[in-house]
Amino acid sequence: MLRLDGATVRFARRTALDAVDLEVADHETVCVLGPSGSGKSTLLRAVAGLQPLDGGRVLLDGADQSGVPVHQRGLGLMFQDHQLFPQRDVAGNVAFGLRMRGASRGEQAERVAELLDLVGLPGAGPRAVAALSGGEQQRVALARALAPSPRLLMLDEPLGQLDRTLRERLVVELRSLFGRLGTTVLAVTHDQGEAFALADRVVVMRDGRIAQSGTPLDVWQHPASAFVARFLGFENVVPATVSGETADTPWGKIPVAGGIQGAAQVLVRPSGVRLLPEADGLPCEVLARTFRGSHVSLQLRPEVGPLLEAECEFGGAPGVGEVVGVGFSARGVALLPPE
Ligand code: ADP
Ligand code: MG
Repeated sequence: MLRLDGATVRFARRTALDAVDLEVADHETVCVLGPSGSGKSTLLRAVAGLQPLDGGRVLLDGADQSGVPVHQRGLGLMFQDHQLFPQRDVAGNVAFGLRMRGASRGEQAERVAELLDLVGLPGAGPRAVAALSGGEQQRVALARALAPSPRLLMLDEPLGQLDRTLRERLVVELRSLFGRLGTTVLAVTHDQGEAFALADRVVVMRDGRIAQSGTPLDVWQHPASAFVARFLGFENVVPATVSGETADTPWGKIPVAGGIQGAAQVLVRPSGVRLLPEADGLPCEVLARTFRGSHVSLQLRPEVGPLLEAECEFGGAPGVGEVVGVGFSARGVALLPPE
């Protein structure tokens, strides 16, 4: 449905999009995930026609969009600050795209009611936008973007302004809503939780380039690089030399499932760090112990090598200051290419 072919955008001091190739299929939800400044908003603006390309092409349903103005691309846009019109009521906001298309008053009213039901705000049409909570404004912005039945819905940090509980709830609602409507969605966010919960496919961006693309499970289980692993929140990433099924690391030799040989990096998931009696493993001092809801997360200072993040069950979690032994299980270790 959407295809970017070598899309490139250069600003005076940097290349914000560097020859990006990306496809989004009909009914697919793709989430672009990357740190601030990685080019996510520029990507959406380029697809929308708000940002001219310095190279490459944007195609929608096979048609090159160069020269096609924003309002003729058939896109629904919802940006970071949802930019509702403060002087219009909820219905006036949701009807905006329909008015632009010249829909009759009756059609507008019917569609507005339908969309407010859909986003969980039935009957909210006459309410003033300023009197809505952040979560309600977000829903209105979504209803407004969906009203003209866009062929592609684009969301820029859609839930960024909301508090965590609301965000987690809305993400689940959005996913089920997009599933029911069959909407094709391209969303961008810096929040991995949001991306992984929303997406059929996650595209990780770094400095204007695609660092990895795959299903949430793929990317989570097999990060393509140390950058992706660290961005996902994994901290135990170190250089290593691999020989057969053993990696030589700053923490000593650890077992690996095989793959890359020679120079590499290893990612040790917290679940791959096993706590043993002190004499049976790498001696580590417990620096911090954090309750996480489903487990306890430990920060360990090993006798050699950088700090280690581990996790264990509530029962028997060692206390701060205690010394434990650490072993590694190959199942919790992934090999990554050298930096
Ligand atoms: P993200 O949305 O991932 O935070 P952006 O796409 O907004 O990133 O920006 C990518 C890079 O391009 C950043 O370094 C940003 O400073 C730069 N940039 C974005 N828009 C402009 C602009 N209009 N003029 C100059 N530089 C820009
Ligand atoms: Mg942005």
